[in-house]
Amino acid sequence: MQDKLRQIPSVSAVLSDVRISELMTDFSTEAITDLIRKKLSQVRSTIDNKSDIPTILEISNQVSDHIERNWVSWPKNVINATGVVIHTNLGRAPLSIESMQAAIDSSKTYSDLELELDSGKRGSRQARISQLLSSLTGAEAGLVVNNNAAALMLGLSALASGKEVIVSRSEAVEIGGGFRIPDVLKQSGATLIEVGTTNRTYVTDYEKELREETGAIFSIHASNFKIIGFTANPSITDLSILGTRSGIPVLHDVGSGSLIDPTKYGLAPEPLPQESIDAGADLCFFSGDKLLGGPQAGIVVGRKTYIEQLSNHPLARAFRIDKMNLAALTVTLIHYLKEEAQTKIPIWQMISVELENLRTRADRLATMIPGSDLYSVKVIATKSTIGGGSLPGETMDSYGIQVKVSSPEKFARKIRTGITSVIPRIEKDAVIFDLRTILQIEDDALIASITHTLQN
Ligand SMILES: *Cc1c(COP(=O)(O)O)cnc(C)c1O
Repeated sequence: MQDKLRQIPSVSAVLSDVRISELMTDFSTEAITDLIRKKLSQVRSTIDNKSDIPTILEISNQVSDHIERNWVSWPKNVINATGVVIHTNLGRAPLSIESMQAAIDSSKTYSDLELELDSGKRGSRQARISQLLSSLTGAEAGLVVNNNAAALMLGLSALASGKEVIVSRSEAVEIGGGFRIPDVLKQSGATLIEVGTTNRTYVTDYEKELREETGAIFSIHASNFKIIGFTANPSITDLSILGTRSGIPVLHDVGSGSLIDPTKYGLAPEPLPQESIDAGADLCFFSGDKLLGGPQAGIVVGRKTYIEQLSNHPLARAFRIDKMNLAALTVTLIHYLKEEAQTKIPIWQMISVELENLRTRADRLATMIPGSDLYSVKVIATKSTIGGGSLPGETMDSYGIQVKVSSPEKFARKIRTGITSVIPRIEKDAVIFDLRTILQIEDDALIASITHTLQN
């Protein structure tokens, strides 16, 4: 055993291998040496009498592979051919060109992020966005943090810590990724008071639980599931009347935060932030990167006095949004004020595109893929979804390219890990590329990638 251990290559032997020497022109010698040491110590600790001693070349290859795979910029761009418009695993909403540029510009030089240029005094990074959010939703003020989960945590902590929060039994749900309403309430120091039943809750159920200890009435939009049949839930208007009468703030988590009515495109209705405010909600919460089509953000709009309470809470500092997101969100909101959201914001382009366009594009692209006896390619009618916890069960007619190969799983893996990563969907033993979520600028790369994957 001692003999075996002595045969393990030394750090300096691995360092002098050519592949490693080449990497040393780009990367820190210290960092590479450290990686080799770790690798060798791993070999040392797993070796036994039966195992072969890895050669210098083997170690150097493992270390080089690790560096080439991991010490590169990330995340990698992928083509979303799944047909799921807001795909959390793929980074949710792609930004408009203008929003993306704003994020780049904001990070290129110093900025007036927290400085009033007129007075030379300290300013607030929230002032502008608060104005824009007011203009768009009719709310008195707005506040932006890192994501909606953080916004809810902040809202409940600032307004209801040590108090009771009344929630309908049908809404004490899990939103996704283990984010559960009862847990958020517990974390914020509030006590959950569940009222009504799973399928039916009335205003009187809330009213009966109102008392000295009540901190808020909290309504959560069922964004990722649907209860159908014999159901009832009070409207935000009814809850707001109750809230106003008893001096209790009504908080409304609308989830997706679509400023555009999705029924315009034949989809089911979503609660719009502007409607929530109009109905009297004291605070309305939503995400920046779902149906708003902007960067990751959590947005709160509502009464000035409550927004101020949230702004002054220590968690507001902990959840502070960064300047790149803020810049991108600002420009995304301006698209709505210019009434150009549908033409500029990628997810709204995808949702609003004419079906006939998708068919024409699919037809044109499919003919660019060379034929063979080994596979078949054809254009098919398919269904896209919104995803990202928005509009559950809703689908949109779409067109896609269907590729039939002997092993769809293998093909999908190959095209995911290729030079251009494409993420298709597998349906009934065929690989499907849904045109709706593929950006037009990606068409050529998509066809090159499909062709290459089929032929290699
Ligand atoms: C998605 C969602 C959240 C969480 O929002 P993030 O921005 O992802 O943190 C909260 N509530 C509802 C109803 C949602 O749909």
